[in-house]
Amino acid sequence: MNFVLGLDLDGVCADFYGRMREIVAELNEVPIDSLPGQVSFGLAEWGVDGIEEYRRIHRFAVTQRKLFDSMKPIPGAVPALRRLSNEGIHIRIITHRLFIPHFHQIAVTQTTTWLDRHGFLYHDLCFMKDKDLVDADLYVEDAEQNILRLQEQGKPVITFTNSTNVHTAAKRRAGSWQDAEAMIRETYYEYRSRSNLPLPTGPGKEPPSGSA
Ligand SMILES: [Mg+2]
Repeated sequence: MNFVLGLDLDGVCADFYGRMREIVAELNEVPIDSLPGQVSFGLAEWGVDGIEEYRRIHRFAVTQRKLFDSMKPIPGAVPALRRLSNEGIHIRIITHRLFIPHFHQIAVTQTTTWLDRHGFLYHDLCFMKDKDLVDADLYVEDAEQNILRLQEQGKPVITFTNSTNVHTAAKRRAGSWQDAEAMIRETYYEYRSRSNLPLPTGPGKEPPSGSA
C-alpha cells in the first residue's frame, strides 16, 4: 500500500470562511468589510448565534448559493497535491460535509464538481465525521476537535493554520500550502526510507520504476 495522505477540504483545500463571509454579508445586507476576517469555529464574530442558526445558514449556503461549488481553492493546494501525487502519495480526501440531513446528493455533487473543475488530483473521497476512523499515514486538518482527537490517538497530523485554530495545542503547523507540501514530503520521504523504497528524483517526479 502506498503512503496515504488524509486530507480535509474545508479550511485546508477550500476557502470555506472566505465564501461564508460573502454569504453571511449578503443574507444580513451588510458590507462584507463589516464582518471581521478572523473568525472562530461557529462564526460568533459575525453574529451567528448558536448551532441551530449556524446550521440554518449552512443549509442556505449549500442549497441556495452552491457553497461547495463556489469556494475558491486555498492558494497552492492544487499544484502541491499534483506534485505529491506524482511522487507516489495516495490522496484520500476526508470531509464532514454531510452533517445536515436531506440534501446529501447536492452536497456530494457540488463537491465532486468543484474538485474536478479546479483540477484536484485525488484517489479516494470519504464523507466521514470521525476522521480518525479513516486510515491514513498523515492527516492535514484545520478543525480543533479533529486535530486534538488525532493527536490523542498518536496519529500524525499537520494543522493547517487559520483563525479558528490559532489557540489549538497543535504539534505541527503549516501556515500555507508551501509549508504543508514541504512537511508532507519530508514525512513521506522518511516513510520511504524506512521501507527501503527509492526516493522520487525530485519534487513532482515519480520514484524510480519498479518501486511501490
Ligand atoms: Mg476543515
